[in-house]
Amino acid sequence: MPQTARTSDTTGGSHGVQHVDIAVVGAGFAGLYLLHRLRQAGFTAQGLEAGDDVGGTWYWNRYPGARCDIQTTDYSFTFDPALEAAWQWSEKYATQPEILRYLGFVADRYDLRRDIRFGTRVTSARWNEATERWLLTTSAGPSVSCRCYVMASGCLSEPKPPEIDGVASFEGEVYVTGRWPHEGVDFTGKRVAVIGTGSSGIQAIPRIAEQAAHLTVFQRTPNFAFPAHNGPRPAHRVAPLVQDLAAYRAQARQSLSGVPLPRATEFSWQLSDDERRRRFEEALAAGDLVVMLSQLWADQGGDLEGNALAAEHLRGYIRSVVKDPATAEALTPRDHPFGSKRPCLETNYYATFNKPTVGLVNLRQEPIEAITARGIKTARRTVDVDAIVFATGFDAMTGAILAVHPITGRGGQSIDSLWAQGPQTYLGLTVAGFPNLFLITGPGSPSVLSNMAVSIEQHVDWVVDRLIDLRAAGFTTIEATATAQAGWQRHLADCTALSLHRLANTWYTGANVPGKAQGVMPYTGGVGPYRTICDDVVAQGMLGFRLGGPGGKTQCNDGEIVRLQPDARLVLGMMAGMNLPPIESMGAAGARAFVAQFNTTRPAGRPVGEVLDGTLPGADGAPLAWRLYRPATPGPHPIVVYYHGGGWVLGDAASDDPFCRDLCRRSGMIVVSVDYRHAPEHRFPAAPEDGYAALCWVAEHAGQLGGRAGPLLVAGWSAGGNIAAVTCQLARDRGGPVIAGQLLVCPVTDGTTFDRPSYTENATGYFLTRGLMHWFWDLYCSPAERGDPRVSPLQGRLAGLPPAFVVTAEFDPLRDEGIAYAEAMAAAGVPVEQLQARGHFHSSFTMVDVIATAVSGREHMAEALRRFAGTDEAGVLPKAAE
Ligand code: FAD
Ligand code: NAP
Repeated sequence: MPQTARTSDTTGGSHGVQHVDIAVVGAGFAGLYLLHRLRQAGFTAQGLEAGDDVGGTWYWNRYPGARCDIQTTDYSFTFDPALEAAWQWSEKYATQPEILRYLGFVADRYDLRRDIRFGTRVTSARWNEATERWLLTTSAGPSVSCRCYVMASGCLSEPKPPEIDGVASFEGEVYVTGRWPHEGVDFTGKRVAVIGTGSSGIQAIPRIAEQAAHLTVFQRTPNFAFPAHNGPRPAHRVAPLVQDLAAYRAQARQSLSGVPLPRATEFSWQLSDDERRRRFEEALAAGDLVVMLSQLWADQGGDLEGNALAAEHLRGYIRSVVKDPATAEALTPRDHPFGSKRPCLETNYYATFNKPTVGLVNLRQEPIEAITARGIKTARRTVDVDAIVFATGFDAMTGAILAVHPITGRGGQSIDSLWAQGPQTYLGLTVAGFPNLFLITGPGSPSVLSNMAVSIEQHVDWVVDRLIDLRAAGFTTIEATATAQAGWQRHLADCTALSLHRLANTWYTGANVPGKAQGVMPYTGGVGPYRTICDDVVAQGMLGFRLGGPGGKTQCNDGEIVRLQPDARLVLGMMAGMNLPPIESMGAAGARAFVAQFNTTRPAGRPVGEVLDGTLPGADGAPLAWRLYRPATPGPHPIVVYYHGGGWVLGDAASDDPFCRDLCRRSGMIVVSVDYRHAPEHRFPAAPEDGYAALCWVAEHAGQLGGRAGPLLVAGWSAGGNIAAVTCQLARDRGGPVIAGQLLVCPVTDGTTFDRPSYTENATGYFLTRGLMHWFWDLYCSPAERGDPRVSPLQGRLAGLPPAFVVTAEFDPLRDEGIAYAEAMAAAGVPVEQLQARGHFHSSFTMVDVIATAVSGREHMAEALRRFAGTDEAGVLPKAAE
C-alpha cells in the first residue's frame, strides 16, 4: 500500500478534503490501538471520534456503578509489556473513571490524541472505483479521502431509542446510561424510575437506590446475575501475570473466551448433586463471569439439560437474597438458558429490592403504555417520578456501522441493502463488495462474546499486518470474495448451532431492536479457534480475498476457509497435533490396545434405563458378547440390533457405548450391541455369519430381553454398517428374521473399487484414511472375495430389502460408496432416505458429546428408527435439546 503524505486540502473551507492513507473511526480501545500500530507501520492515519475525548465505551457510559465485568488482570492492553508495567489497576473490577483514566494514559503514552479529530462524526462513506479511495463526510471539519477505511466504531456504542410513546412529553429529567452527563446526577430526595435490567441497569440500580427517595424498577426480562465480590485484585489471578506475563497473555489469546482459565471437563451426569452444588458455591464465591460460564460442568454451555442444572442453582441464589417471595420470583429468569443472554455481575442488586424505598414493576404483566408528563403509565397503574433513567441498551454490533449512511462500495451498493436480512462479513473483518473497508469487532467476529481487549488486539493486529503485507507486495486493494463470505456465514451458522445463544431474544441476535433482522451476530466458536482461522487465511495465500494493484495486478485465491463443522475441525486438529503413528503401523494387537486406550479418554455416555451384558452363540457356536441398552421409559420397546465399527479388526460390543446410549435415549428403543469375530484371526465370512447369527438369537430371545414382539431393526457404523447391510440381505434370502428397517452410518459397501472421488479427496487427514482402509481390507479378506455380496453388499441383489436410512459424511473416504448403496437400493425399489452430512468426518456421529454438531443427525436417525418401527414413542430427550 503506497504511503501518502498527510495533506489537508482546506481550499474548500469546511468542505475541504483531508488526504490520508487510513481513516480510523472511533477512539476507544480499538481506535487507539489502531492508531498506534498504523503509525508504527509508517502509514498516515486520521482518527475521527464523535466524543470530545478518547475512551469510547468508557467515555460515554458514566452512569453510577459502571465498571468492567471482566477482571482487570485480563481487561487491559497486552501489546506492550512496558505499558503493562507502567499501569496498576486498583481493583478486581475497575470503575468507569479508572478505565477512562487508563485509556487517557495510553493515549498520552503513545501521543495518540494528535491524530484524532474529536467532536467529529463520520456521516457517510463512499468508495470511488476510479481513484480506489474512500471519501468520508464528517459532521465537522474537512471530509477525509483515504485508501482504507476502518470502522472501530464499537459494538455497544449506539444507544437504541426507548421505543416508548410520550418520552418527549415527560416534564422531569431524562437520562440514558450510555450517554450519561459528565457532571454526574444527584438523585437525592427524588422519585426515580429505571427502565431496563441488563448489565447497565443492574449496576446502576443499587447506586441510584442509595440516593433516591423512591426508586421504581421497570423490568421486562429478568437476567441471571450473581455477586461480583469486587475488591482488590485476587492474588491467585495476579500471580500468573507476575510469574510469566508473556505466557499468560499467550494462553489468553488461544483460549475460548480471551481469559485463560481451565474449563470443566466432567459432564453434569457424571457428578453427584453434592458435587454440583460444591462447584456452584465455588463459582459463586469467585465472582467471575468466565468461571460461572465455564467451570461448572462441560455440558452447561451447549446442552439444555446441563444448562438447566446451572440455571436452577442461580435461581436458588436469587431466592436466598430477596426476602419477598413474589419479588424474588419476578426477578427470576425463566425464559432463556443461562449464558444465552449476557449474565451480569451484581453488587447489592438483589438486596436492593429488600429496601422499602424500592419497587419492581413486572412489564410482562403490565406493559408500559406511555410516558406522560408526570411519569410512567402501565396497563395497571401510573407511577409519578421526577426522573427516568433509560438503561435500555444498544443497537448492538451493527448500529454504529449502519449509522454512517450511506456506506457505498463497489457498483454503488450500500451496506444497509446488503445487510437487510442480517449482517454478512468475511471473518467479521471485511465485507465482499467493499474494498479496503475493515470492521474491528464486526458481526461475525468473536468480539462481544469474549474479553474484548484480547479480541480487539487480534483484530487490529490482523488488519494492520495485512496492510503491511499488501504494501510490501505492491497491492493497493483488498476485498473479500463472495464465496469466502458465504462460506463464513455457513461456518457462523454451524457454530451457532452449538451454542444456546440462538434460544434467547437478546442484543446478540438483534431481537432487542424492533424491526432488526434476527440471528446470532457474534462468532460463537471462540477466540483461539478464530485466531487460528484468521492465521490460516494468510497461510493459505490470503484465501478468500481478491488483491489488486497498479496496472491490473491481481491475485485471488478463492475458497472457503472452514468447511468442516467447527467441533469436527477442533477434534481433527487436536488429533493431528498429537502426531500419532498411523493405526495401520501398529499391528492388529497394537491397534486394539490403542483404540481401547483412546476410548478411555472419551466422555462417558449418558445414563439410560438399564445396561445389561451377556453372551450369545456365534455362527461357530462360540460365545459372542452383547451389551443391551434399555430406555428409562416403560417397555416393551422395539429392539435395534447394533453392529460396532472398527474395520472388522477392532472394537467390540461395548466400543460404541456412547453412540448406543444416544440411540437408545433418542429412539426410545432397546439397543443390543452384538460382537462378531474379528480379522485377522477370523477372516471373512466369520463377521457377517456372526452378525446374522446374532440377529437370529436376538429375534428368538426378544421377549426375554424385554423387547416388543415383531420385526427387529438393525443398525451399524462403518464396518458395522457393512455387517448390518449384509445381515439384511441374508435375512431376506434365508427366510428371516423380519427386519423393519436398517440404519447404515458411514457404511462400507463395496470393496471392488477404490476409485470413487471420496477416496482421493479424503485420503488423508480425516482420521479414517485410505491407508487404514486398505489395511482393514487386507486383513479381512482376499481381493478375490471382494465381489461376494457378504463382503460388498453393493454387489448383491437389492430388491426386497427393508427400508433404509443411510448416513454419509462429506469428509469420509467411504462417502461415495455409502451414497452409491443408497442410490442402488432406491433404484431397486427399496424405500431409502439419505443424510449426507456436510462438514462431518467418518467418526462424527459416534463421537457423542464431542461432536455436538452431529446431534441433529443422530436425532434424524432416531426418527427414522421410530418410523421403521411404526412407533411414535419418542426418546427420553426433550426435543428442544436440539
Ligand atoms: P467503543 O469503546 O465503543 O468506541 C467506539 C467509538 O467510536 C465511540 O467513542 C464512538 O463515539 C465512536 N464512533 C462510533 N461511530 C462513529 C462515527 N460515525 N463517527 C465518529 N465516531 C464514531 N467488554 C469487555 O470485554 N469487558 C467488560 O468488562 C466490558 N464492560 C462494558 C461495560 C459497558 C457499560 C459497555 C457498554 C460495554 C462493555 N464492554 C466490555 C464492551 C466494550 O464496548 C468493549 O470492551 C470496548 O470498550 C469496545 O471498544 P471499541 O474501541 O471497540 O468501541
Ligand atoms: P441490555 O443488556 O440490552 O439491557 C437492556 C434492558 O432494557 C433489558 O432489560 C431490556 O429488556 C430493557 N429494555 C429495552 N428496551 C425496552 C423497552 N422498550 N421497554 C422496556 N424495557 C426495555 O443493555 P445494557 O444493560 O446496556 O448492556 C448491554 C451490554 O453492554 C451488556 O450485555 C454487556 O455486554 C455490556 N455492559 C457491560 C457492563 C459491565 O458490567 N461491564 C455494564 C453495562 C453494559 P429485554 O431484555 O426484555 O429486552
